[in-house]
Amino acid sequence: MKTKQNIDFSYEFFPPRSEPMQRRLWRAVGQLERLRPLFFSMTYGALGSAQEVSIGTAISMHRDSPVPVAAHLTCGNAEQGQVLAVARQYYDAGIRRFVALRGDAVEQETPPLDAYRSVVELIEDLRALGEVDISVAAYPETHPLASNAVADLLRLRDKLDAGAQRAITQYFFEADSFLRFRDRAQRIGIDKPIIPGILPIHDLEKVRVFSERCGATVPGSYGALFAKVEHKPEARYRLALDLSVELCETLNREGVDSFHLYTLNQTDMCLDISMALGASLQAPLQISAA
Ligand code: FAD
Repeated sequence: MKTKQNIDFSYEFFPPRSEPMQRRLWRAVGQLERLRPLFFSMTYGALGSAQEVSIGTAISMHRDSPVPVAAHLTCGNAEQGQVLAVARQYYDAGIRRFVALRGDAVEQETPPLDAYRSVVELIEDLRALGEVDISVAAYPETHPLASNAVADLLRLRDKLDAGAQRAITQYFFEADSFLRFRDRAQRIGIDKPIIPGILPIHDLEKVRVFSERCGATVPGSYGALFAKVEHKPEARYRLALDLSVELCETLNREGVDSFHLYTLNQTDMCLDISMALGASLQAPLQISAA
């Protein structure tokens, strides 16, 4: 449901690994569904046990929440048959949205010989399941393993041409990173929606470590800004909230009307960001799934 500013939201969750984390996830789902987002998405773990939790949680979410669920599915480290079996399990459970991904290489493991060679092949197989909605990943600051920025964009174009409906980006903190990327994408003929992925900063150090791995730039100014509020949790929360809202508002002025929020399974910040951008709490929806 669009906000007053005509903005749509989607929210990404990861599979909970303990009972307290499960409780946190379901609390987050219960609160965020009242904003009537376009969809919730559930990431897919790199290892077997985490994958089981992803599958179980995504299917429960589909059954227990009125918000459509997009199941992430990775294809780079498993046999095609295994990946397709999971896709079929999701489809049979009623899930029609997918985020089709390669997945990061698992250390010390060689991919099986019959793994998918590209996400494009996975997209083709997902489309063969029936009526599905597919999102893919995009990298405003270029994927760290891409040979160059142009090759990265061409890979994105191939995924969209293969039938994905939209791209969701890796997080970034400077509006210009996204806007330049969107311009470059348009220049090579990409005309499908590119949805910015927004990561609220709960812990700057953790964000720095993760950003090193995924190639996102943390602005130099953030160190000093967060140092000032180091021992003031409320002020730190406010700072992180303001930074995310400012980023979204700048993008919205440039015509961006849909945001994908990386929740880290924590509701408060995402709820506050969304409401600052005009979302409002709606009456609970009925669940249509049996
Ligand atoms: P591709 O489209 O195949 O590649 C993207 C770019 O990365 C290309 O330029 C490609 O050349 C380069 N590249 C990637 N891997 C290699 C490689 N091995 N060799 C050479 N070049 C390579 N990961 C998960 O495990 N689970 C998730 O649920 C998940 N969700 C995500 C959601 C979003 C919105 C995003 C942005 C990322 C997500 N990821 C997830 C991370 C993603 O799997 C990694 O970034 C992965 O390395 C690339 O996946 P892709 O689908 O973009 O791959």
